[in-house]
Amino acid sequence: MRDDDALEKAASLLRRAERVAVLTGAGVSTESGIPDFRSPGGLWSRYDPSKLTFDKFVASADTRRLYWEIATESYPVLRDAEPNAAHRAVAALERCGKLLLLVTQNVDGLHQKAGTSDEKIIEIHGSSLRVTCIDCGAPHDREEVHARVLDGDVAPGCDHCGGRLKPATVSFGQAMPERETLAAFQAARSCDLMLVIGSSLVVYPAAGLPDEAVRGGASLIIVNNEATDKDHLAAATLGGSAGESMSLLLRRAGLDGADG
Ligand code: NAD
Ligand code: ZN
Repeated sequence: MRDDDALEKAASLLRRAERVAVLTGAGVSTESGIPDFRSPGGLWSRYDPSKLTFDKFVASADTRRLYWEIATESYPVLRDAEPNAAHRAVAALERCGKLLLLVTQNVDGLHQKAGTSDEKIIEIHGSSLRVTCIDCGAPHDREEVHARVLDGDVAPGCDHCGGRLKPATVSFGQAMPERETLAAFQAARSCDLMLVIGSSLVVYPAAGLPDEAVRGGASLIIVNNEATDKDHLAAATLGGSAGESMSLLLRRAGLDGADG
């Protein structure tokens, strides 16, 4: 399909859609200066993920120290990043009443910063902007814990039970949050359009959402700067930068009035 045909097809699907489920991945935030999973310079090109599994975090003080060292380096980047045109486009879909649910694999909080409301967002891999105790579940203020680590508390403990604090993200080998996962699959089943933006669609279970949506009769649009394994399911695929593609898509669908 020519680029313009794909844009037109996607725009007409979006114009008609009433219940849009959006799935975003790390590619929606690269234009905000947050590297995705595999890019050179991205976290996992520098650290071996097999050394940072949840089991190892639980079992080893050394792993906890390393984990907090990495988390403390990346947190200010996430905290200080600004949303881009792609995040703003998703927020615009809510303002014009089309957004059923946004499921994000990102842990950076940028959709909230762009104006999508909390009740419309499922953070299926958690958030780096929060900290919880893995022993008693008590939430802790990320900014405070960050300051403690910078002050030399290299593997911080819980204020309540003395247990192990961890950024509230889903680590490799850690169970997916049940409520969030159920809500995401429920939205995939009940949407009439699924829009995937900036995800390589290789990390499950999130990568199973497009299949679930299509099985339920929804149309699928994929916005990504490289091919994905699910392109064959999509009614339209839009390449190039997510920010630019989403702006073009909203404009072509006549929804850019909600773009502000
Ligand atoms: P991924 O890195 O596997 O895939 C990102 C995709 O986006 C890639 O196909 C890449 O080519 C594409 N992409 C990158 N920049 C783009 C742009 N500007 N425009 C269009 N496409 C672009 O990410 P994923 O699918 O989210 O899965 C990996 C995991 O990484 C997730 O679990 C997520 O939690 C985690 N992660 C999150 C962040 C974040 O919160 N911002 C950053 C890195 C990794
Ligand atoms: Zn605790």
